Amino acid sequence: MASVPLRAPVRVSFDAPLPEAFTDPSLSLDCSLETQNTLSDALEIKHFISEFSTLPKLRSCGTVYLKQHHKWNRCDHALCPSCSRQRANGRAAILHDLSADYAEIMTLTLSLASTPAAPLVDLWDDLDALRSRWVGSHWLRSQIDGWRWSMELTRTVNGWHPHLVFVLFSRNTLSPADYDRLQTDSASRWATMATQLGHYAEADVQILAKVTRTSGRALRYATKGMIASPEHSVTPGSIVRRAATGDADAADLWAEIEAASVGRRFQGTGGTLRKARS
Ligand SMILES: [Zn+2]
Repeated sequence: MASVPLRAPVRVSFDAPLPEAFTDPSLSLDCSLETQNTLSDALEIKHFISEFSTLPKLRSCGTVYLKQHHKWNRCDHALCPSCSRQRANGRAAILHDLSADYAEIMTLTLSLASTPAAPLVDLWDDLDALRSRWVGSHWLRSQIDGWRWSMELTRTVNGWHPHLVFVLFSRNTLSPADYDRLQTDSASRWATMATQLGHYAEADVQILAKVTRTSGRALRYATKGMIASPEHSVTPGSIVRRAATGDADAADLWAEIEAASVGRRFQGTGGTLRKARS
C-alpha cells in the first residue's frame, strides 16, 4: 500500500465565508444533503483511515468477515465515513415513522460562540456539559414530549463550531404565539445556561424551525450526524475527504477531531422518544 503523504505542500484555507446554509434555517433544511462520494473517494478515505486513524474501531471497520452473519464487520462509529451515513438514514426513517403520532415536529439547533483559536476538545466539553443540563431540565419536559439530538461539527472562519441538532416532537398543536414563545424561551434559556457554566456569554445560534410531517428530507438533515458533508460547509466528512487526498492541514484537523472525540456521545433521545430504536 502506498502511503498517503501527511506533509504534502498543498495548504488549503478553511477561511471561507460562513455558509448561508448555516445561518438561514429555511435554507439549511433545503440545502443539498451530500456532495457525491465516488468509489475512488471512498477507497482513498478507507486507505487514509486504515493508515492514520488513532481510533481502532474505524481502522478495523469492514476488515473482518463475520461468518455467522454472512457479512463484513461494521464499526457503527459516528465518525466512520462508511457506517455513519447508514446509521443516520436509519434514524431518520424511525423518526419519520414516529412523526405520525405527533401534532408538531420542529428542529432546534443549539450552539456556542467560538473563537478561531479555541481547541475543539474544550468547546466539545462545554457543549456536552450544556447538553446534559438542557436535556435534564424540567422546562424542556414541560414544553416538548420527545426529542432526539445529534452532534454535528463544522469548521468556519470562527474555528471549530460543534453544535447540537434536536428534532422535537409535541403532541399538542402550537399556536403561532406558542411557537414564538418556545423560540424565544429556548434561546434565552440556552444563553443563560451557557453563562452559568462560564462560557463567554452569547450563545450564538439558536434556530427553531417547523418541519412538516411529510418532510423526510428535513428529518434526514436533522439526523445527518458528523460525517455528512452538505455542500458549502466544512464538516468532518469533508475534512477526512481532503485529508485522504494528501492535504496536510486537513489531516491535522482530522487528527484533532479524532482526539477530541474519545469518550463522547454523538446522539441520544429523551422524553417519549427515549425507547425509540437507534
Ligand atoms: Zn464503520
